[in-house]
Amino acid sequence: MITIKNLSFSYRQKEIFNNLDLTVPDGKITSIIGPNGSGKSTLVKILVGLYKYNGEIKINEIPLLKDNRKEIRKIIGVVFTNPENQFVAETVMDDIAFTLENMNFKKDIIRKKIEEISKYLGIYDILECNPHDLNSNQKQLVSLASALVHDPKILILDEALTMLDPYDKEKILKILKELNSKGLTILNITNDIEDTLISDEIYVLNEGKIVLNGAKEEVYKEEDKLHKLGFELPFMVELSNRLMFYDLIDHVIYDMEEMVDILWK
Ligand code: ADP
Ligand code: MG
Repeated sequence: MITIKNLSFSYRQKEIFNNLDLTVPDGKITSIIGPNGSGKSTLVKILVGLYKYNGEIKINEIPLLKDNRKEIRKIIGVVFTNPENQFVAETVMDDIAFTLENMNFKKDIIRKKIEEISKYLGIYDILECNPHDLNSNQKQLVSLASALVHDPKILILDEALTMLDPYDKEKILKILKELNSKGLTILNITNDIEDTLISDEIYVLNEGKIVLNGAKEEVYKEEDKLHKLGFELPFMVELSNRLMFYDLIDHVIYDMEEMVDILWK
């Protein structure tokens, strides 16, 4: 779905990427985790066409070039850390409509799409509110709605879950899982290893280089490498490892309820 080959990019003097290769497969949830300053947001900005780069990037088979930018924006939706920076209108409704207006959708279709996505995300009741007056969970749901309203094939999250409290985060993670099961490809970029639990595959990025990559299960086995970058294992993985050591369980269990169920029996 997204293929990146030999990507090189520098800000004036500062080199960020030097021959980076990375693939985001179709229909999967791929996470990129890396410490602050490792180049995650730079990569997102490149993917949305904000920066010129060297190398070859294709999104849904379309080369990421200036002339294709419009076409590519139809395929992707992006949510950033701070939704405030993305709000452009006085009401939630107009804000979500903005993307669609730019894509020249007709008025009645815009209304229908907004109704659909806002009901799905549980923000139908706040369509008339000013987005700046909402709580942080609602704000993040509004930017998620704006990112999804044009039915993109790929959703890119740039530390989009960071500002949420655990309960709201859990709710949004569930929604993401469900959207993924309906076919949405997700690129989940984060600096919190707990947020990688929803992924199929994980890339670990450090100083612009991929230092670890593989299926989630494989990456979680590289505890030492993760520690060196300042990451602990996700809580459920750590707990599972310890319980496996005492033969209380025989595989990593990611879900708390499943864990309780098994231990109780
Ligand atoms: P991350 O999102 O992983 O925290 P960034 O992509 O934001 O990392 O930043 C990677 C590096 O590039 C950092 O060292 C940062 O200071 C630098 N950087 C980011 N944006 C710019 C810019 N516009 N000009 C110069 N350097 C930048
Ligand atoms: Mg960032």
